[in-house]
Amino acid sequence: MKAFVVYAHPEPTSFNGALRDTAVRWLTDAGHEVKVSDLYAEDFDPRAGRHDFTGNADANRFDYQAEQVHATETDGFAPTLAREQERLLWCDLLILQYPLWWGGLPAILKGWFDRVLAYKKFYDLANRYDNGVLKGRKVIMSITTGGTPERFSEGGMFGEIGPILHPVDHCILRYVGLDIADPFIAYAAGRVTPEERAALLRAWEVRLAEITAG
Ligand code: FAD
Repeated sequence: MKAFVVYAHPEPTSFNGALRDTAVRWLTDAGHEVKVSDLYAEDFDPRAGRHDFTGNADANRFDYQAEQVHATETDGFAPTLAREQERLLWCDLLILQYPLWWGGLPAILKGWFDRVLAYKKFYDLANRYDNGVLKGRKVIMSITTGGTPERFSEGGMFGEIGPILHPVDHCILRYVGLDIADPFIAYAAGRVTPEERAALLRAWEVRLAEITAG
């Protein structure tokens, strides 16, 4: 399998870093090909703009989706975006590794979606959900939280995790056709014991084995 890990945490020695390293090591040892985009280390710019493109469709007024169509038709994406887009089209399995921040994606990862998943290249009105461009590829979100499982339960302070992840799950990942595996969630990553963290890393390996098996 070809796995593409998109990693969004500013600290390499974080638990997110440990989950990323575990995935890369386990997948490589199992004979899979792995590519990693380390968004903070690579200083990925989350801001959309004219710098996304090498040319332009309209120099007077910036219409982001119109420029994305033009770049798709003219091979005119900036090299940083072209590389990420190539990696997405290359992979069979996309792994998103990030901490839950304000109930959602770290801004750098939201910006990665904004800029990489360009209109016409990855979706249009006829090509989304079941007809999505990335149909046939799997995705799994591997997420850490500050809150405990109790906080993320029905009646808990934050409510169940499903609705919290719904905007990413339904409006981004499914929208472009990806086949979504249940997320791997390391709850309260900073508060559990070292033994529990070690168990989480082993559980992540088990999930990777399941996902890559079929
Ligand atoms: P870290 O603190 O980096 O690591 C946790 C522990 O794991 C550390 O002790 C570290 O030393 C240890 N560790 C590292 N590597 C290993 C290893 N190989 N083996 C064993 N242990 C290891 N939480 C919520 O629940 N909901 C929110 O909405 C939310 N919003 C947030 C918004 C912001 C802006 C921020 C900064 C935090 C927010 N949080 C929220 C908390 C956040 O989700 C957690 O702090 C984060 O998920 C913890 O993961 P980490 O990788 O940063 O942990």
